[in-house]
Amino acid sequence: MSEIPYKIYLNEKEMPKAWYNVRADMKNKPAPLLNPQTLKPMTADELEAVFCSELVNQELDNTNAYTEIPAEILDFYKMYRPSPLIRAYFLENELKTPAKIYYKFEGNNTSGSHKLNSAIAQAYYAKKQGLKGVTTETGAGQWGTALSMACGFFGLDCRVYMVKCSYEQKPFRREVMRTYGASVTPSPSDTTQVGRKILAEHPNTSGSLGCAISEAVEAAINTDGYRYVLGSVLNQVMLHQSVIGLESKIALEKYGIKPDIIIGCAGGGSNLGGLIAPFMGEKLRGEADYRFIAVEPASCPSLTRGKFAYDYCDTGMVCPLSKMYTLGAEFMPSANHAGGLRYHGMSPILSQLYHDNLMEAVSADQTSVFEAAVKFARVEGTLPAPESSHAIKAAIDEALKCKETGEAKTILFGLTGTGYFDMYAYQKYNDRQMTDYIPTDAELQESLSRLPKVD
Ligand SMILES: *Cc1c(COP(=O)(O)O)cnc(C)c1O
Repeated sequence: MSEIPYKIYLNEKEMPKAWYNVRADMKNKPAPLLNPQTLKPMTADELEAVFCSELVNQELDNTNAYTEIPAEILDFYKMYRPSPLIRAYFLENELKTPAKIYYKFEGNNTSGSHKLNSAIAQAYYAKKQGLKGVTTETGAGQWGTALSMACGFFGLDCRVYMVKCSYEQKPFRREVMRTYGASVTPSPSDTTQVGRKILAEHPNTSGSLGCAISEAVEAAINTDGYRYVLGSVLNQVMLHQSVIGLESKIALEKYGIKPDIIIGCAGGGSNLGGLIAPFMGEKLRGEADYRFIAVEPASCPSLTRGKFAYDYCDTGMVCPLSKMYTLGAEFMPSANHAGGLRYHGMSPILSQLYHDNLMEAVSADQTSVFEAAVKFARVEGTLPAPESSHAIKAAIDEALKCKETGEAKTILFGLTGTGYFDMYAYQKYNDRQMTDYIPTDAELQESLSRLPKVD
């Protein structure tokens, strides 16, 4: 019997007890969310019509550096955390690089990604507020899966609007969500006003994330005892995901390791924001220096080719406006297999840090991303998610630069999830049928010209 308490003790020593809020150390704070009608900053009251109260407090809190993780959430975390921090010896060997490569693996839970870290927090606060349930959207399905698990755990109803093409292409994702008790509706649907409007205008549309968000928000506002939850982009999600970076830091410090370069893939920015948070805090306070690199798909390049401006977060324009690097809410990325990286915008926190030159960004085309994924899988074993493989690609590139210069840098990257539901993408790659579509400047200009006029 002595083994169980020992394990709990070990976990507790290696897990943070509080989340870290990088906004507390930012000189230039991220811009506030704006009411889409009045263009004035959203008040807590306005936000509480859509989001859970405690999450609104976290969203608006630019000053407190630490928020204690409630005991119920810590207990849930202990089922799969601390997540593994692994030295990629075999990859180093394969690349013949003097660099040391570490990755923090967030795919070791059934949902298969880091999204569970925030899903369980958001479900907890909804339950604590006495709500009946939550609504959300899901694109590739990872967020919907994570939220279904979290809601199932707390006995909350979970209604997921799933982008229609994913709903049809990923029936097993859908069944995982239903198994955990969620109801899944393909979006656009005729269950909401905004859905019916979009269907009337585009009867053959296969849906988009922006459209599913609009439907989920409308459903939450119109259903008693429900609120809307979102799996990325928001400040509150960055806060919960800081558990990734804090744990990494605890583990690295235990072995006296200091990373030189920290890399993550960036869709809405939550895993990268969480991974770099405590390290960025040190950089902001002038205590240490690191290079941070965001990696995005060349087909949806919000940081590297977007504009830093206020924009809509959804197609139906029911959500608050957010100041971020964006390609325009109407931008439709080409069919890229990294579904989790196809959002037109980026976290306001990461956008501000990038704008202030505290972080770098690169983009990668999907064929070279899958080349990196396959190389990684063959030597390290884990089959990576297409999203995560963007970080692998950049880590390999940095390690190869070290080979040229002979520098033994320490690289840390986030391996956000596994790719078992993405075998159609791997099939395309294995059959040499993968294509890359990179938007032209004219196409980006087209959607950027329709940004809302603010300031
Ligand atoms: C959703 C997702 C991402 C991208 O989301 P971020 O908010 O940018 O972290 C990356 N990897 C996986 C596996 C995902 O599910």
